[in-house]
Amino acid sequence: MAPMKGERHEQVPVVIAGAGPAGSAAAIALALQGVESLVVERRADPPTLPRATGITLRSMELIRSWGVEDEVLAGGVDADWQLWSCRTLAEAADGRAVHTGQPTRSQSALISPTAPACVPQDHLEPVLRRRIVELGSRVEHGTALVALDQTSDGVRATLRDATGATRTVSARYLIAADGASSDVRGALGIRMRGPGAVGRAVSALFRAPLWDLVGDLRYGIYDIDHPEGRGELLPAGPDDRWLYGLLLDRVPGPVDVTARGMARRIELAAGRRVRPDIERIGTFDFAAGLAERFRLGNVFLAGDAAHRVTPRGGIGMNMALQGGNDLGWKLGWVLRGWAGPDLLDSYEAERLPPAETIVRWSVEPDRTAPAAAGLHMDLGGRIPHVPLPAAGGWTSTVDMLGTGLTTFAREHDELPELEHGGPPVTVQRVGELGARALGMAPGGTLLVRPDGRPAVVQEPALLRSPQPG
Ligand SMILES: Cc1cc2nc3c(=O)[nH]c(=O)nc-3n(C[C@H](O)[C@H](O)[C@H](O)COP(=O)(O)OP(=O)(O)OC[C@H]3O[C@@H](n4cnc5c(N)ncnc54)[C@H](O)[C@@H]3O)c2cc1C
Repeated sequence: MAPMKGERHEQVPVVIAGAGPAGSAAAIALALQGVESLVVERRADPPTLPRATGITLRSMELIRSWGVEDEVLAGGVDADWQLWSCRTLAEAADGRAVHTGQPTRSQSALISPTAPACVPQDHLEPVLRRRIVELGSRVEHGTALVALDQTSDGVRATLRDATGATRTVSARYLIAADGASSDVRGALGIRMRGPGAVGRAVSALFRAPLWDLVGDLRYGIYDIDHPEGRGELLPAGPDDRWLYGLLLDRVPGPVDVTARGMARRIELAAGRRVRPDIERIGTFDFAAGLAERFRLGNVFLAGDAAHRVTPRGGIGMNMALQGGNDLGWKLGWVLRGWAGPDLLDSYEAERLPPAETIVRWSVEPDRTAPAAAGLHMDLGGRIPHVPLPAAGGWTSTVDMLGTGLTTFAREHDELPELEHGGPPVTVQRVGELGARALGMAPGGTLLVRPDGRPAVVQEPALLRSPQPG
């Protein structure tokens, strides 16, 4: 990708290609560190396909810290993000719960100030994009990154807008959040390893009054076992908007993927005559893979560009949100001069190993292993949620984190000296019970990174975090 002649030229600390979950999370995390970014999104129009419909517990905690929890939940449905296995929806009462690794809303209250949520991706994305702009960064819709050139001190990105005009932008860093078929990854020559396509799936987006059939058994995924209606039904937003999905290898013989054929399958899965109003039908690869590296020079891969997982387990979007957030705060610290560039090495070091595991899980038909370890992976070693008394009720330790370092200390205890010139430190005083619940040794303090992981202060970069379990 070489820059083109005769272009306008501008500078910005970080250019982000792609305003999907990964790019948006990175831009928000950067903005919260006070660092501006330019997000370019090839598509001119907002997304209209739900894709992911479940937000995990840790992703909801991040969304809450970004100040958009209520706006995100407003586009979701009142249901537990759990899998319910039944013959048809009308027979839901005879079904059973299948543990997928995420807690119910009542279980979540024990470990978090929030809960997993059933919200479609096409509602989430515009909310995040608005937040980026509110925080002072830019999102350009209809603008694609078409070329890039790594320089000694950064990156030159060539952008083409909807009119076809091109311009060059210089940035210290570039984030390739341009999705599973990332052109940036291709241009850098970074290969994807792993299983690739392991099957073909079909999905139909439709409206039908299905909530009437399940009563109080309101869940995020219904795994339907009817021989002719086999597949998954997922709520995809308010007003009885639903997705029906089927892994084509799961059924013998050809599947009729016309509107008529899908409507019949949906009715069989519902177990009642429901006349679905089908908006669209699409087929896609059930694919997984992992980029051999997440960084080359000043360019970082994030989200599906770095790791692709099948929709099984509902984790892809959540990995994108969490990875984007991780990259965003780390780049922010380095650009603010609060940490050395070594901190950026921890992005791949911390995110590639769990991504490798999740890529492997996502192609296993058996959900047992992911379910057992899923929550642990999702929380990623963040400090415990401890509800502490606060004005007007209580607050969670998870909500008490600053954008720099946060030190939890007992009332009146002296604080350790931290290196001058590092990130800002927020001090949070806790009582003895709170200190114990946080696992603080007598007389000790707890130093926490903005992502909630305890920090190990051994070098100025303040980068290391003990690996979870
Ligand atoms: C059918 C389906 C069902 C899924 N179900 C789930 C689920 O249940 N749960 C779950 O967690 N995940 C699910 N996923 C996966 C989830 O949608 C992805 O993991 C997630 O969107 C990845 O986010 P991202 O930001 O990395 O990439 P994307 O969302 O793909 O965003 C990339 C963005 O970059 C833009 N772009 C591309 N090239 C350029 C360029 N050169 N310049 C500028 N912009 C560019 C694209 O237009 C796009 O908006 C599903 C995916 C599919 C396809």
